[in-house]
Amino acid sequence: MEADPVNATTAKATAVVPGRSCGTCTLCCKLMRIPELDKPRLKWCANCEVGEGCRIYPDRPGSCRAFYCGYLVFPYLDERWFPAKARIVIGFEATRLAIHVDPARPAAWRQEPFYSQIRSWVQQGAHSRRHVLVWQGNEVIAPLPDGEQNLGAVRDDQLIITREKPGPDGRKRWEAFVAERDDPRFAGWDGRPAPLLDVPGSG
Ligand code: SF4
Ligand code: SF4
Repeated sequence: MEADPVNATTAKATAVVPGRSCGTCTLCCKLMRIPELDKPRLKWCANCEVGEGCRIYPDRPGSCRAFYCGYLVFPYLDERWFPAKARIVIGFEATRLAIHVDPARPAAWRQEPFYSQIRSWVQQGAHSRRHVLVWQGNEVIAPLPDGEQNLGAVRDDQLIITREKPGPDGRKRWEAFVAERDDPRFAGWDGRPAPLLDVPGSG
């Protein structure tokens, strides 16, 4: 059965498509943040032999052990999605699909076959209340069912809220915005797209 990418919160080793492997790809070791190593996004990990693998593989941190990108687990993504070539890593956040793009090719995700698939995930997510974000380092773009929003630089300790909100004509429109984690309006929020709240200054 095809994995549901929008509802997945993480990918498991058992979900890896038979015959698929990282091979010469090490792109997640550049694009992803590794908290245990204090490694920021977009900086090659000091333990990475680029194009070959991890020098400390048996002792790699838990977040590396737990990570299997979308290319490895979604059988319907073909070899054009091999991250080392596509320059796109599909990751999983608590309630979202996170598309990490290499600044060397920041617009890669807007090209085909990637863009149509990403838009399809956005539409699926709208129905299942799981959304998609595009990370270019710390800069975030939120593709929305009816457009997209550039959220600029977002800190790791901030929240990204995605929701539908009635416009001036009464029709609902999607919006995304950044909030501080201690914002009482979102106390206890589980990270899913927020309910309709009146948030002053949120656009
Ligand atoms: S991006 Fe995917 S294929 Fe590439 S090294 Fe990371 S997990 Fe493996
Ligand atoms: S520790 Fe190894 S697997 Fe983890 S980011 Fe560094 S090189 Fe990659």
